[in-house]
Amino acid sequence: MKTVECKSCKQEIPLIDPYVQFKCPDCGELIARCEKCRTFGHDYTCECGFEGP
Ligand SMILES: [Zn+2]
Ligand SMILES: [Zn+2]
Repeated sequence: MKTVECKSCKQEIPLIDPYVQFKCPDCGELIARCEKCRTFGHDYTCECGFEGP
């Protein structure tokens, strides 16, 4: 099954699950976050070092 990695909790998210994907405002890299991390507003760090939200 195809998965994406949540940038916050590093869990694999099955593509059938609800998740959000957006581009890093700094480097444009795609960032995925699972529904849980989005709901609780967990931090994430992009490969470029950008920290969000
Ligand atoms: Zn997550
Ligand atoms: Zn970035």
